[in-house]
Amino acid sequence: MIRIGQLINGEKSTSSDSRTGPVFNPATGQQIAEVELASTADVAEAVTVADAAFIEWSGRTPINRARVMFCYKQLLEEHAHELAELVSREHGKTLPDALGSVKRGIEIVEFACGIPQLLKGEYSANVGSGVDSFNMRQPLGVCAGITPFNFPAMVPLWMFPVALACGNSFILKPSEKDPSCPLRMVELAHEAGVPPGVLNVVNGDKEAVDALLQDHRVKAVSFVGSSPIAQYIYHQGAANNKRVQALGGAKNHMIVMPDAETDRTVDALIGSAFGSAGERCMAISIAVCVGDKTADRIRDGLLEATSKLNVGPYTDPDADYGPLNTKAHLNKVLGYLDSGEQEGAKLVADGRDISLQGYEEGYFLGPCIFDHVKTDMTIYKEEIFGPVLGIVRTDEYGEALSMINNHALGNGATLFTSNGGVARHFLERANIGMVGVNVPIPVPVAYHSFGGWKQSLFGDHSMHGPEGVRFYTKLKTATLTWPAGENAGPEFSIPVLS
Ligand code: NAD
Repeated sequence: MIRIGQLINGEKSTSSDSRTGPVFNPATGQQIAEVELASTADVAEAVTVADAAFIEWSGRTPINRARVMFCYKQLLEEHAHELAELVSREHGKTLPDALGSVKRGIEIVEFACGIPQLLKGEYSANVGSGVDSFNMRQPLGVCAGITPFNFPAMVPLWMFPVALACGNSFILKPSEKDPSCPLRMVELAHEAGVPPGVLNVVNGDKEAVDALLQDHRVKAVSFVGSSPIAQYIYHQGAANNKRVQALGGAKNHMIVMPDAETDRTVDALIGSAFGSAGERCMAISIAVCVGDKTADRIRDGLLEATSKLNVGPYTDPDADYGPLNTKAHLNKVLGYLDSGEQEGAKLVADGRDISLQGYEEGYFLGPCIFDHVKTDMTIYKEEIFGPVLGIVRTDEYGEALSMINNHALGNGATLFTSNGGVARHFLERANIGMVGVNVPIPVPVAYHSFGGWKQSLFGDHSMHGPEGVRFYTKLKTATLTWPAGENAGPEFSIPVLS
């Protein structure tokens, strides 16, 4: 059995007396590895080395750190297929999808290569007579990142390249469900020139997370995962005087207007609802159709399109999406299907009877569509995180927008229409962090910032882009003068500008 351990101070290690957790191939249901679950003492060791390594790393010139990022980008590109394979094997998503997520992660490293430009401060000459003022952005120290199972390459890359390029040291605590890709990415960072101790991996569960939250030497925590845990991380981190950005779950709506083009809308819904088995925080899980005629034609188009979808293991090049990540998660999603039916929604596409020869123990679920979903149903209120799309029918756009604005989660939302006035109104009035018009998944590129509103983000900063740089740096403002002429003696009143 493969044993996955820790990477601390540039060295991979395993320990026979560590607690472990299982890692499965979700397509076969077989355990393929065991991952060590770090103890509080393991985390303390990682923090000690990261704290020591911070001194030299933060003292380097920004361009020196950027050059390491350039080398890292090159290495990630050379190893992209290997990394995608690691993602697919433990997560279950198709290879092209996994490769896409690795490439979106590499875009953050490209952004990090240009961070010296964003570390520049502002300068004001002559703020008082002969007095100048400027500010500088300085790194925080040891930062930690806690990441979810659904993007084992991309989400860690949202965090540590930005933190490192700003001069911080970092401890990554990846999901224990698919730990191999993050570990390999950190190995490659060392090959690229990241010094030992600057970037460390502690694999683990709640014990490791709590140890990071309680260690006063950890100055900032970045988290991506479900909303209840995001809220916990935010409160615990803040109580321990840390800076926290904690991204949570999602229930992303698409409003479909009567003037939306049917084929494009159906294709957009199919890809965003069922791609990666719906295990994406930017997946569309609710289509709000304005008017019954709109709802009928979109539902019919969806039913036709879903009947042609291929569900299969990542080794099948024709698969459109793969299994869910764990048996427990599959059971949770199946529970939502029961609850939707009990609460009166109409299950018009039922993917439960799927069976794949040779993969009978895999965690597969065919595409599922509920029509006539109502806003008081559990399947509307809660994130399902599976290949399940709900159709809500409404008579008018204003009501559709209110649904979005009243939902507890506020990650992404999109509008399909050919009316520019409605589109503009939507972009301005949606109470949501990431909005789109006629795009299925409005994910910001690396040099913009990614983050939701409401219970999809706890904290003040979203990730990567300029917000990422603000999160991983603190602002210092300097005021100076070079004395000339006579010393005027002490002044006891607050100086005012003339
Ligand atoms: P999760 O919240 O279960 O786990 C996330 C991380 O927290 C993991 O590293 C896990 O080990 C750790 N963790 C789990 N339980 C903990 C506890 N009780 N105390 C401390 N740490 C704990 O999330 P997941 O199932 O891995 O990922 C899926 C979730 O992530 C979905 O809700 C999805 O919407 C969300 N997500 C959000 C975004 C975003 O950008 N907003 C992106 C990707 C995923």
